[in-house]
Amino acid sequence: MKTNKETYSKEFLSRVPKSDLHVHLDGSLRLSTLIELAKERKVKLPSYTESGMRKLVFKERYRNLREYLYGFMFTTAVMQDPEAMERVSYEFAWDNINEGVCYVEVRFAPQLHINSRQSMKDVLVAVNRGLKAAQLEYNTRPEVQSDKTPRFEYGIITSAMRKFEPSYSEYYQDFFSIHQYSRPREIYPLASLELARAAVKLRDKEGLPIVGFDLAGEEAGFPGEHHWEAFAYAQKHFLKKTVHAGEAFGPESIYQAITDLQAARVGHGYYLFSVGAIKDKSIEDRYRYVRALSEYIADRRVTIEVCLTSNLQTNPRIKSIGSHAFRKMRQGHLSTTFCTDNRLVSNTTVTNELYLAANTFKFEQRELKDIIIYGFKRSFFPGSYSDKRDYVRGVIDHFERVEKEFYGSIDPKQQ
Ligand SMILES: [Zn+2]
Repeated sequence: MKTNKETYSKEFLSRVPKSDLHVHLDGSLRLSTLIELAKERKVKLPSYTESGMRKLVFKERYRNLREYLYGFMFTTAVMQDPEAMERVSYEFAWDNINEGVCYVEVRFAPQLHINSRQSMKDVLVAVNRGLKAAQLEYNTRPEVQSDKTPRFEYGIITSAMRKFEPSYSEYYQDFFSIHQYSRPREIYPLASLELARAAVKLRDKEGLPIVGFDLAGEEAGFPGEHHWEAFAYAQKHFLKKTVHAGEAFGPESIYQAITDLQAARVGHGYYLFSVGAIKDKSIEDRYRYVRALSEYIADRRVTIEVCLTSNLQTNPRIKSIGSHAFRKMRQGHLSTTFCTDNRLVSNTTVTNELYLAANTFKFEQRELKDIIIYGFKRSFFPGSYSDKRDYVRGVIDHFERVEKEFYGSIDPKQQ
């Protein structure tokens, strides 16, 4: 059996079945594909070589969130037609499969991709086509058919934006121009509600595996509570909810995510324990507020989608993984799962995130397994609950086979 002092190898971590519940499609393109699509579609890039793009856009470290987000301008610019959407999605699925990620919930903001050439439906159908093609290729392989390894499953999460500008897409430009008598803060929630309605309709009428609704984008000045109507709509139609909160704003943002928006999961949640980050003057006892909030999250098993590399990149105040708030989340027994956020922009993989986490926080074998399996359990799985249970059981069985192969006997406590 493994002891605390050993480290987990990348080989082991890439072989165990994994999930990714927080990953943006438009932040996870293959760099070679981005360059190729840009050339074909005459999209201007700062460089047309991979090394040039790594130097200028997709870096190892960023100065701040703004610099981190700069690259999305290019990725979304090439994803403006169904062929590009499908290709990116197909390759994305294979990149996950190839590192042992057998369950993925990919998210993106469809409204960033709508234009005169593709509708909301076209965008979502194209993404699903790409994911499905990869799934079909992989799931018909003999090793999957014979249950030697879990099949690949996926769900799509549609992201609404806390804030957007006309320049973000043709759709948003139109949205602003037809609401010219409304204030921007009134326009953002309208776009969210429209997206929630589209997501439910396309799920129900087209059979697309849209499993969740998300809120992304700038937190400061653009509170989640403004989007309550879209989330209430999602709730009434059993579309599950996750919200980016506490990534670049304090605990109030997480509070809104789980109260006004009733999120089952929280993206990042980094500032959950940051008493000093509370801005709301009406909160008198800030310690009590944070304690009550984190206790509720722990007890209700609201899952925090932890993105270590991304947090370090967008928040230079976090000096090392060891000083990440995950340490406190773990002490508080919170439900957590490790995610990539963006495979290209963060230059990472699920294997890499687990490698950093397991070897920094020194997980016991049991704890590592629990965290990985929790990603599957807290997923917004597209099939029935019975299917989900069977699938998770198969994942656990496979996890234990790999564990045995690498470390011999299995921890008896697990039995
Ligand atoms: Zn994110």
